[in-house]
Amino acid sequence: MTNANFNIYVLIKQVPDTGSKAGVNPDGTIDRARAKRMMNPFDKFALQAALHTKKEYGGTVTAISMGPPPAKEILLEAIEHGADAGVLLSDRRLAASDTLATSYALTKVIEYLNTEKNHPADLIFAGLQTTDGDTAQVGPEIAERLGVMQVTYCEDFSLEGTTLVARRIVEGGHTVVATPLPALVTVANAYTPLAYKSLRGAKKVQYLARTPEVEAEYISVIDLDVVNADPMLAGLKGSPTIVGKTWKIGEVGGSCVVRQGQSVANMVTDVLDATPVDEFLNKKEAVPV
Ligand SMILES: Cc1cc2nc3c(=O)[nH]c(=O)nc-3n(C[C@H](O)[C@H](O)[C@H](O)COP(=O)(O)OP(=O)(O)OC[C@H]3O[C@@H](n4cnc5c(N)ncnc54)[C@H](O)[C@@H]3O)c2cc1C
Repeated sequence: MTNANFNIYVLIKQVPDTGSKAGVNPDGTIDRARAKRMMNPFDKFALQAALHTKKEYGGTVTAISMGPPPAKEILLEAIEHGADAGVLLSDRRLAASDTLATSYALTKVIEYLNTEKNHPADLIFAGLQTTDGDTAQVGPEIAERLGVMQVTYCEDFSLEGTTLVARRIVEGGHTVVATPLPALVTVANAYTPLAYKSLRGAKKVQYLARTPEVEAEYISVIDLDVVNADPMLAGLKGSPTIVGKTWKIGEVGGSCVVRQGQSVANMVTDVLDATPVDEFLNKKEAVPV
């Protein structure tokens, strides 16, 4: 069935290119300035899912990102692949956001766009996880905040009217679920890889680069005030996470303990009893990673 009105969002994040010499600063933070940048590889599957939905069922695709100004690059890349528009939430007050603050800010963008378009999102696609933060929390947190259904680890899907039928990866196999729209879907890397950029898309982006006033019609760069977000809930102020310390892989060595036959509560208690948690929690300053 074709529904030309589907309002489709895809969340994409710019991350340090894992192939570049990003390095780590002396204080343990990632040296983002030196790193080359790229679209989070997992988000390419999400973009493909959004473009597939548009092609098969109709609608428009808006790519959304939160990050510093260079993140516009990946929104243009999304347009080259066939997205209709891009929105970048960029604001100094977002620095050092943890996942709670990130999901808050991105939820405010989605709510703002829903009002602007006078049409709430039908489908929101997100990557499974990122290659820098790597928590896989942002997508589900946004679904919770919006109060929409969420389908995680999705490896394939179809739409039957306004019902999403999705195959999800679960331990040892897969499961098929059906849910009414709206829904947020985190797309597994078992999904179809992103197709090549279209010549039309590439030419369009070349044209946008030559005509900034037209580019502004396709890519909106907005801040926290535009989306009516509370700055106290964004950035470091809105981030309860404390990063105690970071290590380079292989620097500490260590061991692995496999625990079996106990309840999860017991296992967590054992681990906490063996860890200097007080020392960790008493750290006053959060460390941007
Ligand atoms: C205390 C603390 C300080 C931090 N400081 C910084 C900092 O200064 N600068 C910094 O860059 N990071 C910082 N981070 C990392 C930052 O919290 C995470 O990168 C961010 O919250 C997203 O989480 P994630 O990368 O684990 O995303 P995941 O939950 O793994 O991402 C899942 C999916 O959500 C979507 N998504 C996630 N983030 C975005 C985004 N920004 N835009 C669009 N879509 C997105 C994508 O579709 C992605 O595939 C900090 C983290 C902590 C805990």
